[in-house]
Amino acid sequence: MTPKAGPLPSTLCARPASDPPATTAPLTPALQLSAVYRVEGLDQIDALYRGDESGFIYARDGHPNAAQLATKVATLEGAEAALVCASGMAAESAVFLTLLGSGDHVALSEGLYGKTVALAARELSRFGIRHSIFDATRPESLREVLTPSTRLVFAETLSNPCLRLADIGGIAEVARPAGALVVIDHTFAPLLCLPLALGADAVTHSATKLIGGHSDLTLGLVAGSRSLVDRASTLASTFGLTGNPFESWLALRGMATLALRSGRACSSALRLAERLAGARRVLAVHYPGLPGHPDHRRAADVLSGGFGTVVTIDLGGRGEADDFIRRVRHIPFAPSLGDVATTLSHPATTSHRGQEAEQWARQGITLGLVRLSIGMEDPDDIWEDLEQALRSA
Ligand code: PLP
Repeated sequence: MTPKAGPLPSTLCARPASDPPATTAPLTPALQLSAVYRVEGLDQIDALYRGDESGFIYARDGHPNAAQLATKVATLEGAEAALVCASGMAAESAVFLTLLGSGDHVALSEGLYGKTVALAARELSRFGIRHSIFDATRPESLREVLTPSTRLVFAETLSNPCLRLADIGGIAEVARPAGALVVIDHTFAPLLCLPLALGADAVTHSATKLIGGHSDLTLGLVAGSRSLVDRASTLASTFGLTGNPFESWLALRGMATLALRSGRACSSALRLAERLAGARRVLAVHYPGLPGHPDHRRAADVLSGGFGTVVTIDLGGRGEADDFIRRVRHIPFAPSLGDVATTLSHPATTSHRGQEAEQWARQGITLGLVRLSIGMEDPDDIWEDLEQALRSA
């Protein structure tokens, strides 16, 4: 038998490749897909678990791409720390499950994303967690639903689809003396204002929307105090709610242009909202940048980054909305928001599907509402498409 010159083919194929020698570093963040990390020995694994040494062990508990994204979002939000979760709903689940236990109560603002309400009403209620609804534009309405067991107050900065602006400072003033934490879903408004600076304890994001910005990832974030994020991280790992490396990497790449995209979309949205307000067949325009919007004054005070990237119009009934959706040539009906291109959605048949008529009435939802998420196109081209659809209806 001839002596072996090296590993046999199956061994050669199976062993991980080692890094090539290099004295340079990549300019862009490396994508680290590894599900697990090599540990030197037992002293190191003890040190890693104790937190005496920093490093990664198992990707569900943490990995470099999530850490990079979390640091960026925490810094942006003025938070001590952040956690990357598998979706916006995973981030909300992490917060709710961290802060609430059997017998506790959560106050939810009117008009939250449908799945957020379902999380409390359908799922957490099975574990003895109760909820009530209040109006985030009127903090005094929170006083009416607070109970001695209220641990969490949850609201969206800008509600969907009528873009009512929460009075975050007022909500925090009512919640804090009652011992409840305020968490704000900031999905519709990254960079428009800083909920933590206004008095909130934490924010959540669906990074699937503006943070990712290209409709090619599903991810969520929680940002807040180190102690809250540490507790949420442990829970998220146990429940399997954490985000994966590739989508974290994509979100980091998306974030490079977040400020540019948000600024551009906000200025186009304002121009389009003004034009739509005088357009034939448009019965109402919901946009906080318009003086007629019920929260315009607070928006002008608080939203220093712009009035938002979403404009909602009321066309009357389901027939009119459907006709418009079929007539726009370049704006797809795609029930999400925050993409580089303009998209539209129909809240009554998507995000708010299945809610009671009375809930719709309280939120101003009609069958004729069409929600536009404004993208990076030239606003004149967006207008041309909207205008021809309205004209030919
Ligand atoms: N919050 C808001 C305001 C949303 O619009 C959505 C999704 O549309 C979510 C949370 C949930 O995010 P995800 O789809 O990433 O789970």
